[in-house]
Amino acid sequence: MNFETEKATKGNILIVDDIPENLQLLGDLLIKNGYTVRSVTSGRMALKTVKVKRPDVIFLDIKMPEMDGYQVCQSLKKDEDLRNIPVIFISALDDVFDKVTAFSIGGVDYIVKPFQIEEVIARLENQLTIQRQQQLLETEVTNRRQTEEVLYQSRALLASVLNSSLDGIAAMQAVRDPETGIIEDFRCLVVNPVIARVFQRNREDMIGKLVLKKFLTSIEPELFDQFVDVVETGEPLERDFYYLSGDSSWYHFVAVKLGDGFAITIRDITARKKIELALQDANQKLELIANLDGLTQVANRRCFNERIQKEWDNSAHKQQPLSLILFDLDYFKLYNDYYGHLAGDECLLKIAQLVYKLIRHQDINRPTDLVARYGGEEFVILLTNTDLSTAVTVAQRIKTAISELQIPHVASDIQDIVTVSLGIASVIPTLTTTPDTLVGDADKALYQAKQQGRDRYCVYDQTM
Ligand code: GH3
Ligand code: MG
Ligand code: MG
Repeated sequence: MNFETEKATKGNILIVDDIPENLQLLGDLLIKNGYTVRSVTSGRMALKTVKVKRPDVIFLDIKMPEMDGYQVCQSLKKDEDLRNIPVIFISALDDVFDKVTAFSIGGVDYIVKPFQIEEVIARLENQLTIQRQQQLLETEVTNRRQTEEVLYQSRALLASVLNSSLDGIAAMQAVRDPETGIIEDFRCLVVNPVIARVFQRNREDMIGKLVLKKFLTSIEPELFDQFVDVVETGEPLERDFYYLSGDSSWYHFVAVKLGDGFAITIRDITARKKIELALQDANQKLELIANLDGLTQVANRRCFNERIQKEWDNSAHKQQPLSLILFDLDYFKLYNDYYGHLAGDECLLKIAQLVYKLIRHQDINRPTDLVARYGGEEFVILLTNTDLSTAVTVAQRIKTAISELQIPHVASDIQDIVTVSLGIASVIPTLTTTPDTLVGDADKALYQAKQQGRDRYCVYDQTM
């Protein structure tokens, strides 16, 4: 009930008058016109009740015993919370009414007994309207202040993030040809100090300017198109790029679409990159070492196994012949026994290097050919895209070259120099067979050469 009347009311009015008939009269009048009315008969009661519930307007009788209207008004004006409640004084026609005092202490209007209904309502409505507009204005001012505060704080936050970031941060806006819609360049919207430092420019010279295309072209021409792609496809772009600036040279960036443009963060990765490159270098060296035979400085068996598998698949794919020469030093146990193990090592190194140079300096230098130490005093030569007759020629050359080294071997049963026996095999590989067959064939041919008296080559055939 109370709730409904409050809701429907045109305004909460407090009437203060020491004469109950006056209260009754004005109260009835206002209630009839749709206002909610509270009435009190003394200034003291008035000051109490306003604190309990704030009225929208107070009608205040001037002539009251104990505390007159002026005093009540002055008390109200002293109170921060009550100061703004409009006070309309009530005066009787025969009263000595001091209008100047009434207004100077903060009264906003006055009505005169006996009341004229229309006049009372009109004056009351005046005050209520002013009151409502003032409230509206106050709310608006408060809202605005809050918005400004939020804006200020978010700006300050953004600025501190941008300025304190160790990464470069920038935001770019696409500039399109008005006719075709094609992106012609990017305008720099935001750029933080790190970016400016990296590119050795003033932020003021970058923000708002069309600088990107010209600038990127000087670093890496493809970059501009890649950024255009980020905007047109929405796909982020992440990569390393090289740009020499001070002590730094490598950067990593991530560009993501932002509106009709992109945001980019750039990180200096020079230190990491240096370590990476050193590691790569070390790995390459390590790989080389892992594939090399320590004594003879040619490829080792591990390397050979890898390579023959690779070339096997490759040759099978291309249907090209793959040839293998397996050779072994003759009576090498006797060599060691006679000249000593160190001399034996030296002999292995000499022969390995000779064969390596021969293979490297064949008529056509073919990087896919390989010389490897297969076992103790046994070597293997892998010849890609080489048929049997060419492999035989290579084997003959090797045999001759080793003889020409004229390494003394007086303990040998067949010659007084170091000689070798060679087995040759050739095949056009298939994807369903393995390189083991070819190695096996060459081994059989080598065995045959040993059987037939050494210091010779044998070609594998199926009767073996
Ligand atoms: P054949 O003509 O039948 O090949 O006789 P061989 O004596 O060469 O063959 P055998 O397999 O009996 O002996 C191989 C010798 O090669 C035994 C070993 O001491 C020697 N040898 C293997 N690896 C090395 C090496 O790294 N250094 C040295 N100095 N000798 C090695
Ligand atoms: Mg031998
Ligand atoms: Mg042997």
